[in-house]
Amino acid sequence: MAITSLEALMEKWERFFQEYCKDKIESAALLYPEKKSVLLDYWDIDKYDSELGEYLLDKPYRAIYTAEEALKRIDVAGEAPRLHFRVRNIPDANKVEIRDLRAIHLGKFISVSGLVKKVTEVRPKLQDAAFQCQKCGAIIKVPQEENILAEPMECYADQGGCGRKSSFKLLTEKSEFIDAQKLELQESPEGLRGGAQPMRLIVYLEDDLVGDVVPGDRITVNGVLRVQARRKGRMKLTEFNKVLDANSIEIKEQAFEEIYISEEDEKKIKEISKDPMLYEKIRNSIAPTIYGLETEKDALALQLFGGVPKYMPDGTRIRGDIHILLVGDPGTAKSQLLRYISQLAPRSIYTSGKSSSAAGLTASAVKSDEFGEGGWTLEAGALVLADLGIACVDELDKMQPKDRDALHQAMEQQEISVAKAGINATLKSRCALLGAANPKFGRFDEYAPIAEQINIPPALLSRFDLIFPLTDKPDREKDDALASHILEVHRYGEMLSHENIEIDRIKPAIEPEFLRKYIAYAKRNVFPVLTEEAMKRIRDYYVDMRAKSKETIPFTPRQLEAFIRIAEASARMRLSNVVTIEDADRAIKIVEYYLTKVGMERELEAFNIDLITTGITKTQKDKMKILTEIIRDICQETGSAAPLEEIITRAQDEGMERDTVEKLIGKMRREGIIFEPKHGKYKLTSE
Ligand code: ADP
Ligand code: MG
Repeated sequence: MAITSLEALMEKWERFFQEYCKDKIESAALLYPEKKSVLLDYWDIDKYDSELGEYLLDKPYRAIYTAEEALKRIDVAGEAPRLHFRVRNIPDANKVEIRDLRAIHLGKFISVSGLVKKVTEVRPKLQDAAFQCQKCGAIIKVPQEENILAEPMECYADQGGCGRKSSFKLLTEKSEFIDAQKLELQESPEGLRGGAQPMRLIVYLEDDLVGDVVPGDRITVNGVLRVQARRKGRMKLTEFNKVLDANSIEIKEQAFEEIYISEEDEKKIKEISKDPMLYEKIRNSIAPTIYGLETEKDALALQLFGGVPKYMPDGTRIRGDIHILLVGDPGTAKSQLLRYISQLAPRSIYTSGKSSSAAGLTASAVKSDEFGEGGWTLEAGALVLADLGIACVDELDKMQPKDRDALHQAMEQQEISVAKAGINATLKSRCALLGAANPKFGRFDEYAPIAEQINIPPALLSRFDLIFPLTDKPDREKDDALASHILEVHRYGEMLSHENIEIDRIKPAIEPEFLRKYIAYAKRNVFPVLTEEAMKRIRDYYVDMRAKSKETIPFTPRQLEAFIRIAEASARMRLSNVVTIEDADRAIKIVEYYLTKVGMERELEAFNIDLITTGITKTQKDKMKILTEIIRDICQETGSAAPLEEIITRAQDEGMERDTVEKLIGKMRREGIIFEPKHGKYKLTSE
């Protein structure tokens, strides 16, 4: 039967509901008003009547309206609750990428997937407005369809009014409201290659759809595309905005769903995992145009795979992601490495700490006119958008101050809580952070503690599992090799544009496309567990190193966790479900390399984790002790604060240089050990 009239359509729906969906409707009605919809699979409709299915795709507003009218006619235990008709899983032909949305999609039922960037608070929206006629007092109802308030044209006689033109007063208490929310959907970054800017789409949600989605979620919205007039002040423009009226929302749960791995891929993945040269091959596939930096590349490879997150019975979660920081001289390929990793990782975000986005690295709740029409909008930052992937943040030292505080929680608990006005949400940031930072004074000084040299607080530094300084010191042999490498890369680049030649040296051992699949496969399917021997190896190393070192603490339980995560990642890399001694050794080697670079107290030739967590060397600490005593003595002798000059004179007797004293006094003041009640005079805080 062809669909010739609205009534015919409604009858079709009614029959379909009676015959096929009675159970669904009954259970939905039972849950009313907690649940207010009947959610159907598109293919159930199509199976019943393909014409009805096609009609829904082609004329969705009409189809949904009639379906909801028909739903009212289905008698459930004597009641007919007003249920929304929602449809999910619509055909592939109606799936559209945000950047491909065109005028032909207007008014059609389509499915759009993406990453939720912003959500507004849930706000009441007028659905059925009640107006009072100021002449006769009658109450007139006007259904609201647009964003602009529709008022009665006259005091409608058919609603019992006086029929005259009049002025009206809106009665909010007699009007009907519906919950409404707006969100901004952004193209998934994994679909973007070559640093293209993601395109965005505004989505409207109503009633029971609101409140379920938070920024950072990956969703598919099924709905109807329409246009919305744009205004400039009071003028309406001829260009329109696209908005999607959501009919149903599917939240994606699985990691890397968007990466398709065929059976053939899987066979190849398993084959490569057994390659005895696997680790070298993966290393050589990471930024092959960048010369050297072998250990750093090993670490980045391990970060791509990551350790295993653990969920404890008490509800806490221990992260599996490995956080890495690259600190170094300008021009040492930090930015290049970050870009490379962000393109290689199955899911990632590349951003700069300097970027002007209000959401910054974590999240922000702001009052926004442009998007929230004066209401609150919650916007996800890089670490939320990179959930289940890698956040590559260049110039991390230039991040906004509010991110510094929020970053602790984001890195350790891997979530970000926001509580502000109408918004109360916990956003997930289960990602690995790969940061790059430049030294404060231009060049990295390997003889000074790292915490002194970069503008990142020590407490935050200690959240990184690995920190690598990249230095650019003249070294004849290295310079020669590096220069040849870069020259060769450029020459090949030039030749490539002339003829089609194969380049072995800078060709990745494993193609990036395939490596991405390999990583996604490993993260999805492999969850290695420590063997007894691996545990023993790590435990012995940890205990021995701590026992051996007399004057310093080489590492804390934080590093112990780092060993475990890295060892797990190492096992995962070869798709092994067990962490072996070899994995433990690889982890120990890499942590040792990092500590040798930034956690080594040179004068003592010992690891000292305080260099990273507090930025104070053992030698400095000893000297600070002496200064503390000097200040205490002066204060007791004179009964007032100790003048700097006097402190310096006495410290010089103990063999300290003026420079050192001045520097340490500054440090002690920042640490809160001493304070300066009068200019140039110091007292101990604790006395
Ligand atoms: P940074 O972010 O550390 O300041 P960049 O990533 O911008 O440095 O690198 C500057 C340039 O130097 C890039 O073109 C990069 O390819 C090149 N370069 C630096 N170090 C190396 C290296 N080890 N191998 C190859 N190229 C390098
Ligand atoms: Mg850079």
